[in-house]
Amino acid sequence: MKMISIAVPCYNEQETIPAFYQAIIPVLKQIGLDYEVIFVDDGSKDDTAKIIKDLANNDSHIKYVIFSRNFGKESAMYAGLSSTKGDYVAIMDVDLQDPPEKLIDMYNGIAFEGYDCVGLRRVTREGEPKIRSFFARQFYKTINKMSETEIVDGARDYRLMTRKMVDAILSVEEYNRFSKGIFSWVGFKTKWLEYKNVQRVAGETKWNFKKLLRYSIDGIIAFSTSPLKMITKLGISFIVLSFLMAITAVILAVVPKHIVFHSGWPYLSIVLVFLFGVLFVCLGVMSQYLAKTYAEVKHRPIYIEKESNVNKKK
Ligand code: UDP
Ligand code: MG
Repeated sequence: MKMISIAVPCYNEQETIPAFYQAIIPVLKQIGLDYEVIFVDDGSKDDTAKIIKDLANNDSHIKYVIFSRNFGKESAMYAGLSSTKGDYVAIMDVDLQDPPEKLIDMYNGIAFEGYDCVGLRRVTREGEPKIRSFFARQFYKTINKMSETEIVDGARDYRLMTRKMVDAILSVEEYNRFSKGIFSWVGFKTKWLEYKNVQRVAGETKWNFKKLLRYSIDGIIAFSTSPLKMITKLGISFIVLSFLMAITAVILAVVPKHIVFHSGWPYLSIVLVFLFGVLFVCLGVMSQYLAKTYAEVKHRPIYIEKESNVNKKK
């Protein structure tokens, strides 16, 4: 019999795990395949680890991986995916913002319509702070302009995939993971189901503005090198500008009765300060890439496991 696996990243989710468990099991039973649910405790400080271990003790379909510390959702997703054995694999948030019943439509899309992946796309962002929605939209616009890999606006990490696609994702072993990009980069045929935003059942979002901004910058750096190319263009523009200024200066010097600047130094210092600013921004952009490259060449593991009841294939 074929198997469906669900990978669930959890960070301080003691309030939501019981509700999630209650909601997901009937759906999996309805699909009728063999199933497993893999909870990844991403270094929670609350009782998350204890709750998932208790669930696993009472239900052999439940597996868990407990991290040694908080590594972030990207690492938790990777650990979850790499622990799955199923022929079909889904990633799902534990806060029930990813409606479990959609799994049935996702399964039908793969099993009967020939897709490799069926994902969920939010068409509204109702219930989310307006400012967050605004910045999210701007982020998708920017990254899609800069990157050759398409990052679908509103696409969640929630999706069901075939084993082939999951193995492809796992073969991308980069340390700085931006899954929204990796899912798209590996290719395969994806169907999008649309749905309206759902609020989380309990607990709190783990994101704040600063974290989201960092996540956006990481995404751009991971999937585009155009900021680096822009630096070159900027440099060239300034050189062209300086030539134009030189020509203007010569003309002003030979044209009689021109307006003479009484003193040049304020202009000079403004130009200098501006150019130094530009220079440091450029250095900053380059450093971002350098820092990522540095992290990458160190080949550190994507996560460290403290405890688990998953028997790895390898
Ligand atoms: N999460 C995680 N590690 C983290 C932060 C979040 O595993 O460092 C999990 C979290 O438990 C949840 C999912 O990622 O299952 C989505 O997090 P959240 O609901 O806070 O994000 P939002 O839905 O607000 O984007
Ligand atoms: Mg959520």
